[in-house]
Amino acid sequence: MKGIDNHFALAIDVGGSKVAYALIDIQGKMLGPIDKLAVPFDNNGIASAERLIAQIHRFVEGANLYPGTFDGIGMGLCGNVDLKTGMVVLAPNLHWRQVPFAALVAKAYRLPVFASMDVRLAALGEAVWGGAKGIKNFAWVTIGTGYGGYFFLDGKLYDGRHAFAGNFGHIPLDEVAGYPCGCGLRGCIETYVSGPAIARAAQEVIDANRSPTLMHLAGDGKVTCKMVFQAEAVGDPAATEIIEKVIRIVAKSVAGLVNTLDLEMIILGGGVTNGCPDFVIRLDRHIRGLLMTEEAKSELVIIKESFPNSTLFGAAANVFISQGLLKF
Ligand SMILES: [Zn+2]
Repeated sequence: MKGIDNHFALAIDVGGSKVAYALIDIQGKMLGPIDKLAVPFDNNGIASAERLIAQIHRFVEGANLYPGTFDGIGMGLCGNVDLKTGMVVLAPNLHWRQVPFAALVAKAYRLPVFASMDVRLAALGEAVWGGAKGIKNFAWVTIGTGYGGYFFLDGKLYDGRHAFAGNFGHIPLDEVAGYPCGCGLRGCIETYVSGPAIARAAQEVIDANRSPTLMHLAGDGKVTCKMVFQAEAVGDPAATEIIEKVIRIVAKSVAGLVNTLDLEMIILGGGVTNGCPDFVIRLDRHIRGLLMTEEAKSELVIIKESFPNSTLFGAAANVFISQGLLKF
C-alpha cells in the first residue's frame, strides 16, 4: 500500500563503520532499497557528527518527495543512548561520549528524531513485524563487529535502569589474561567471538605456520573473518578449529541466557552469523546440549533475523509507536 495516506519513516542504522538508510512504512514494508554509506571519521578517528548530518541530507530530501506522510527519523546507534533525550552516552566504535546526536539531527532537519541503541531497535523490529511477533520472551543476539543483543521479556522490551541492558558480550571470561576489550575491560566474551576476534585468532594461526590456506588467502594483506569461513569451507582444520571454538563459546553464553531467563526464542543476527550457511544449525545443536530443562531443549526456537537489517525496521517502528500511530 503506497497510497497518499500511507505513513512512513526514514530509518537510519549508524554502525561502527557503515550507515544504512531505508524508507519503511507503517506496515513494515521497505519503500525502495537499503543504502549503505561509510561512517565519516575525522583525522583523530572520531566519527564526525557534522559530516554524518550532512550525509543524511539527501535521504531526508528523498523522503520529503515520497508520496504519503513522512513521520520523522528513526535512528539506531551502536552505543548506549539515553531514551528520553537521544543523547549518545557512550559509543566506543564511534569514539563518542555524550554526543547529543538525535537533537542535532532534529534541529538540522526540523523533524522528529527517535534514537535508541541499535540492538534494542533490532529486537523491537523483530517483535513488531518479524519472527518474534506474538512471542513474549526472547533475546536478540548479534555476532558481528561486537557480540551482544537485547531482551524482550514478559511481552515488552527489557530496558533495565538506563536502557543499557543486553551487553552480555561484556561478561568477562578471563579478566586477567584475556585480550583488552573495546569497553575498557579485559577478556570479555566479545573478545573471543566477534569478527575482529576471529581475524585475530586467524592471524595467530598464520604466525604459527599452521594454515597454508589462510596464509594463501591473506597474501600480503590482513587476514579477515571472512577468510576464516572461506578456509573452513575448503576443509582447513585450523579454520574449523577457530569457528568451532566461537560456536562453543557463543553456545555457552546463549544457553546461559535461556537458563537464566526461560526464553522462548533466540534470534540471531550479525555478520559472523551469516559467515557460513550452517552456522545457525551448528550453533543450535551446541546450545541445545547446554540447556538445563527438557522444556527448553524441546521448545526453544532459534532463528536467523527476519529482515536484511532488523535495526532499520525497529527504528521505523519506534517512530510510529512513539507518536501513537502504531499500537504495540
Ligand atoms: Zn567488554
